[in-house]
Amino acid sequence: MSSPTAPLARDLSLDALADRIRAGDRATLARAITLVESRKPEHQEKAHRLVQALLPDTGRAHRVGITGVPGVGKSTTIDTLGSNLTAAGHRVAVLAVDPSSTRTGGSILGDKTRMARLAVDERAFIRPSPSSGTLGGVAAKTRETMLLCEAAGFDVILVETVGVGQSETTVADMVDFFLVLMLPGAGDELQGIKKGVLEIADLIAVNKSDGDNATRARLAATEYRHALHILAPKTPTWTPPVVLVSGLANQGLEAMWAQVELHRAKLTATGEFAERRRQQQVKWMWTLLEERLLGALERNPRVKARLGGLEAGVREGTISAALAVEEIAGLMGL
Ligand code: GDP
Repeated sequence: MSSPTAPLARDLSLDALADRIRAGDRATLARAITLVESRKPEHQEKAHRLVQALLPDTGRAHRVGITGVPGVGKSTTIDTLGSNLTAAGHRVAVLAVDPSSTRTGGSILGDKTRMARLAVDERAFIRPSPSSGTLGGVAAKTRETMLLCEAAGFDVILVETVGVGQSETTVADMVDFFLVLMLPGAGDELQGIKKGVLEIADLIAVNKSDGDNATRARLAATEYRHALHILAPKTPTWTPPVVLVSGLANQGLEAMWAQVELHRAKLTATGEFAERRRQQQVKWMWTLLEERLLGALERNPRVKARLGGLEAGVREGTISAALAVEEIAGLMGL
């Protein structure tokens, strides 16, 4: 008669875990995130059930994505902005989506040593990027981590990423507000900017606009305004502003945060805020499903044995892509 009690005990520990997270216990939060990041199926199952149990306690935070090239001042700005916010009574979690960490096994972003003040701030919580899996997989884990942090009472979630590949779009898909940090300077610098990032930006902040950089920063801001002007805005409710900040000198960050709050107020009034989150959730479901299906495909021994040969055939033109897919689907019983 042990079977009816076993799941109960498991449920109890899950409940206890959930309760401690709700109470804001950091050690439990960190342990729960480790569970989320684990690749072991039993851990993942527990993590999913934990997130599900905590779902009613999530959703109240400002979810803000922050991107910019290495050296633009992401960690400096997050450290200062985050400290301003905790001083104003907020609780701030800093997470990261670092696509390079899936190759190197170590994440640079979200590293505590880069954010000296926040690292010792008891109202802040810093967690580097999960470092295994595809970008989609890493992002899914960061998303679940974000929910756990919200349940633990963090009301500002900053998700940091770098402008590599698809990572910016992926992060934009999990946040309410996407903030792009740019360097001062004009002309040449603008050339290097991917048009895509301007399309997903809710705000552009020209960082390092202090001291000798002030004039160059103003010039850059004007250019970014022009560049944004020729793009169709994501919504008529919001025209992305361009602001000047200095993460180092703590200049302009209050005005920048006021824009984040204004954006939320405006989009909440039109219903777009809630709708955007609903769409993100559905998109997330499909991303998870795609990951799951691709994973099953790659682990299937019969598919594994044929995949290389089929890919070579498609490359050489001896078998059509459609026929190759037909055969793979057949091997999967689809
Ligand atoms: P990240 O790679 O984007 O995280 O950039 P960091 O925050 O590590 O900053 C890179 C360099 O730029 C560091 O030497 C910072 O001190 C400097 N820096 C960052 N923000 C500012 C700023 O607002 N003004 C100035 N003058 N320097 C800055």
